[in-house]
Amino acid sequence: MNTGLQLYNTLTRKKELFEPLNAPHVGMYVCGPTVYSDVHLGNCRTFISFDLIFRYLKYSGYKVRYVRNITDAGHLEGDRDEGDDKFAKRAKLEQLEPMEIVQKYTLGFHDVLRMFNTLPPSIEPTATGHIIEQIEMIKEIMNNGYAYESNGTIYFDVEKYSQTYNYTILTNRNLEDMLANTRELGGQNEKRGRLDFALWIKAKPETLMRWASPWGEGFPGWHIECSAMSAKYLGAEFDIHGGGMDLAATHHTNEIAQSEACSHKQPAKYWMHTNMLTVNGTRMSKSAGNGFLPEQLFSGDHALLEKGFSPMTVKFFMLQAHYRSTLDFSNEALDASEKGFKRLMNALSLLDKLTPAESSDFEIDPIIDNCVKAMNDDFNSPVVIAELFEASRIINTVYDGKGKISAVELDKLKQLMQDFVYDIFGLKDEETSNIALNSVLDMVIDLRQTAKENKDYATSDKIRLGLQSMGIQLKDSKEGTTWNKA
Ligand code: AMP
Ligand code: ZN
Repeated sequence: MNTGLQLYNTLTRKKELFEPLNAPHVGMYVCGPTVYSDVHLGNCRTFISFDLIFRYLKYSGYKVRYVRNITDAGHLEGDRDEGDDKFAKRAKLEQLEPMEIVQKYTLGFHDVLRMFNTLPPSIEPTATGHIIEQIEMIKEIMNNGYAYESNGTIYFDVEKYSQTYNYTILTNRNLEDMLANTRELGGQNEKRGRLDFALWIKAKPETLMRWASPWGEGFPGWHIECSAMSAKYLGAEFDIHGGGMDLAATHHTNEIAQSEACSHKQPAKYWMHTNMLTVNGTRMSKSAGNGFLPEQLFSGDHALLEKGFSPMTVKFFMLQAHYRSTLDFSNEALDASEKGFKRLMNALSLLDKLTPAESSDFEIDPIIDNCVKAMNDDFNSPVVIAELFEASRIINTVYDGKGKISAVELDKLKQLMQDFVYDIFGLKDEETSNIALNSVLDMVIDLRQTAKENKDYATSDKIRLGLQSMGIQLKDSKEGTTWNKA
């Protein structure tokens, strides 16, 4: 098991050695999407980052229980317990039942993540499937004196909690400043304190998604679902809690407060936050209107896009940045990633065609060490990609007959690529993963070979030029003929 992994903990604001509470088991909870609309590319960045972390933990020998929820209730438009319910509003707009909205966008979310070749989480619980657990947790928080009822709505008492605990532990903000900067009470002025937030919200006559509770009909607040579901599946204390950076100040701050008020335990040992995908420096978001859908990016059908980019190009573009750095979208940056990804995939397609020699001009161990070191340094994927380009250079050099590699080193090279490109980064060759295209090309290359053997150069040239006009380049060498996309 890999024991040298360092990860950045938002809670302590430093990199720490990863020491799970119950190794080799690891519990990881990541806040999932709010499924009232399509996920945009920014959301995908966060889920792809945690997929990388999940994959690397597994590669490191840990048995990971990865819980990623689906928020399908309780999300109001305002962040202060005000505004319309997002699901109900969308349901009216699309003339669907709220759970049809939930189903539609959950399926869409899965489709998108599948295109990015991310692994499914171990458990994907929904807020609506855990109303009882949320009610039980709210009861416990009330019993402990940290929440109060006000006209059928239950609020968390931040002031009371702050007498014992540090409400701003995650972001290190000053509570006095926060109070001074918070508008007057949200909700129906039922709150005692400005920072209090709803655990349970009383249904209005028109509320569509509602459940019975000891306080009358209503629905849960947004934050309580994650506290209830993480506790249910990972326990009151678990290893990693993650999400996008925008969640730290409110959602995760309130989650910590709820969990501590319930069980007197800080729920997660390591809090991890991914940075934002931006467009011209502005965070990509549904409300800013700058959020393209992944399909628009793939097809190029968006005013900001000069052309379409494939899912693996987009994923490669994301992996070329560290998950804690902002990543700004631009056509130029994606163009560069497309070239880089193609270069890597071309090299990989040659790997099986290399013939080992008696001796070796190259040693692969230092490259493997550098990749592991980089991933152990808070999942530094851009450094790994630089190493993979070095490995690609070796492959090309050997393939071009300008260097030799021994059987032992070649095996290491293959293992390196399998581990880091496919297993840890979850990349795949979009050209060769198209089996039908592959088989047809193999057959055409075979026909061309037969034509050449029969000295029918007119036919063999016709095949080569025909393929070239379709963007497929043939390359002849003494090992045979290979193809790549021009
Ligand atoms: P939501 O569906 O809005 O609850 O967001 C789902 C996840 O995407 C959360 O973890 C957010 O923090 C994250 N997220 C939202 N916008 C961005 C962005 N522009 N870049 C990266 N992650 C984001
Ligand atoms: Zn959450």
